[in-house]
Amino acid sequence: MAQIIDGKAISAQIKDELKEKVANIKKDGITLCLAVIQVGNDPASSVYVGNKKKACEYIGIESLAYELEENTTQEELLDLIHELNKRQDVNGILVQLPLPKHIDEDMIIRAIDPSKDVDGFHPQSVGALCIGQKGFISCTPAGIIQLLKRSGIEIAGKECVIIGRSNIVGKPMALLLLRENGTVTVAHSKTENLKEVTKRADILVVAVGRPKMITREYVKEGAVVIDVGIHRNENNKLCGDVDYDDVAPICSAITPVPGGVGPMTIAMLMNNCVESAHLNS
Ligand code: NDP
Repeated sequence: MAQIIDGKAISAQIKDELKEKVANIKKDGITLCLAVIQVGNDPASSVYVGNKKKACEYIGIESLAYELEENTTQEELLDLIHELNKRQDVNGILVQLPLPKHIDEDMIIRAIDPSKDVDGFHPQSVGALCIGQKGFISCTPAGIIQLLKRSGIEIAGKECVIIGRSNIVGKPMALLLLRENGTVTVAHSKTENLKEVTKRADILVVAVGRPKMITREYVKEGAVVIDVGIHRNENNKLCGDVDYDDVAPICSAITPVPGGVGPMTIAMLMNNCVESAHLNS
């Protein structure tokens, strides 16, 4: 029977630890503040922004919400980021993605002061991760490392295969697993014989963005399977990139969707906000 990796419980544990840390930081007279910017009113983004605000409240971090009109210009958004970069009372800046098409996302990410880049998307943060220096780490892959460690799953020396090479999940995931001494392979849409590659994995991280694509034919018996995907099926129910019912019986541990990787992303964002106190103080 596979161990079900409970992301909800682990994220709750992390948030409780952070709450305590924030209470201690406050005793030293330091306050924490996250600025969240949303442009337009995409319903999914609004839900994510609302959840981030709630998590801040729970942990004791102040949050500033900037809800900008869909037709906000790139210059207006850049002006706001420059202003927040300068503000001493703001530790973290997060711009909710995706942005409307008329705004250059890369330029916006580059405008955020790296010492406030709590999403870990700035090229300086990514570069620091690549060469093993200190910096903010993209929240979803950082959360996956926590899931593995807190579930007692050994990474060092293991064959780790990631399906997907996006900048926010696949690539930083590969770097983090390498940092933990895993033997890492990154598969993508041009990978030949994908099933052969994924069947080598002791730890398989799936961030392919295709509902239920990964069936047991892709998975070695006894592997640990981490499902990053989030989709709504035809009945409006959430599902992942992994066909859970098919794969769970043959693996040693698996994350469910919902309740696996998803809750960890916010917990790690909160962790980055708390870390930002040290970078900015
Ligand atoms: P992207 O669409 O940016 O990347 C998908 C990756 O999968 C690409 O590298 C692509 O390859 C690869 N791919 C696509 N089709 C295939 C295929 N048939 N065989 C092998 N590789 C393939 O997705 P993201 O990384 O942003 O997200 C992945 C999933 O994770 C999505 O479902 C997303 O919703 C979810 N997600 C969940 C989060 C959470 O908090 N739980 C956070 C972020 C994402 P190529 O590069 O060659 O095109």
